[in-house]
Amino acid sequence: MKAKNKFQQQIVEASKTLPAITKTQAQWGYDNAIEHIGRRTDKGAITCTKCGHSWQGTGYLVDTLTDCICPNCKAKLVVKTTKQRVFNGSYYMTVVTAHKGYQVLRTVMIKSVGKVGKPCEYSHSEVMQRWIAPNGKHCTFAKLRQTMGTMYYDSWIFHTNLELRQENDVYNRIFTGEVYPRLKLIPEIKRTGFNKAFYGQKPLDMFRTLLTDSRAETLLKTGQTALLERIMDMGWKKIDNYWQSIRICIRNGYKINDATLWCDYIDNLRFFGKDLYNAKYVCPTDLKAEHDRYMLKKAKADAQAELEKQLEKEAEFRAIKAKFFGLIFSDGRISVRVLESVQEIVAEGQAMHHCVGGYSTKEDSLILSATIDGKRIETVEVSISKLKVIQCRGLCNKNSEHHNQILSLVNNNMPLIEQRLAA
Ligand SMILES: [Zn+2]
Repeated sequence: MKAKNKFQQQIVEASKTLPAITKTQAQWGYDNAIEHIGRRTDKGAITCTKCGHSWQGTGYLVDTLTDCICPNCKAKLVVKTTKQRVFNGSYYMTVVTAHKGYQVLRTVMIKSVGKVGKPCEYSHSEVMQRWIAPNGKHCTFAKLRQTMGTMYYDSWIFHTNLELRQENDVYNRIFTGEVYPRLKLIPEIKRTGFNKAFYGQKPLDMFRTLLTDSRAETLLKTGQTALLERIMDMGWKKIDNYWQSIRICIRNGYKINDATLWCDYIDNLRFFGKDLYNAKYVCPTDLKAEHDRYMLKKAKADAQAELEKQLEKEAEFRAIKAKFFGLIFSDGRISVRVLESVQEIVAEGQAMHHCVGGYSTKEDSLILSATIDGKRIETVEVSISKLKVIQCRGLCNKNSEHHNQILSLVNNNMPLIEQRLAA
């Protein structure tokens, strides 16, 4: 793609003088970014696919469940028992560097070919670069990818040029791999207090966030890194929901260690209309206890809201189900009657600890309650269109000892339901 604007032109120009990935960098990738296999035979002989050295292992469980280190080259191996003799792998590493005032992320693909008994052969190819300006704007250089006839989105065509490309979400999905430990940073990044930790974030996201929002810098510099990580995980824009409370925490020297818990807790405080500027609320001494207390409160409020939503449907319920009201049948011991309001159905669900409460306005279902001497035994759901018992459940969804009698009682009286339907 040709550079479309001045920003892109400048980066294309700068890219011409970017030195190639060094031998030292590539070698570091070979040593650290690759998962080397310890190929184990059925008889327990292990071959290191990195250096080719073989030795007799100590036994299946020890070899596979504990770390296996090659006694010759000291590589950490993943043991696989297999007859396979060739092990191909491709991996990524990222080199973080600075060039001509831009922060550059260089993604290198490393290929390994391990053949049993021979030292592993490696090759590498730089496949992608993200160029980030101090204002957070970025563009991407990449090799072409094969897009037809492959299920992989990263089938790089290695002989193509690393060129400026149209932004594509695929580039964001490319695995960062191991980050080369010698990072070269532009001064604008250094000033943010970036301490070479990415907190589980992609380097591009981390740098762009730090360069474009001083709140990220504040979180870093005040040691609220758990919060930085959590909010980036949620999507950085969510910081708006928490920032006022975070500022109170920082002012009070309150460090948030469990950011997931804290953010949930703040969400609940907001729900209950508490003052999110008040340290009394946002900096609890025992976060876990306060969090749990509000979760419980919230669960109760949710249940109440759900109940109210159901009760609002009373009129709708009457309109559909009134023709079945008054229906009751009995075998002398067990009585089965149609429940006549949403409230009754909800009460039945609560008493029986099952979820029949939610069925009240289901058009095709008729809910009946089976009792003995006024005591609830099971709840029956009948499909009105099929005139068939859909479910029949006792306390906590279990069948009672009267289950079969109830079923036959309802089935024998199905014509009564049918009569009401015709009326
Ligand atoms: Zn080895």
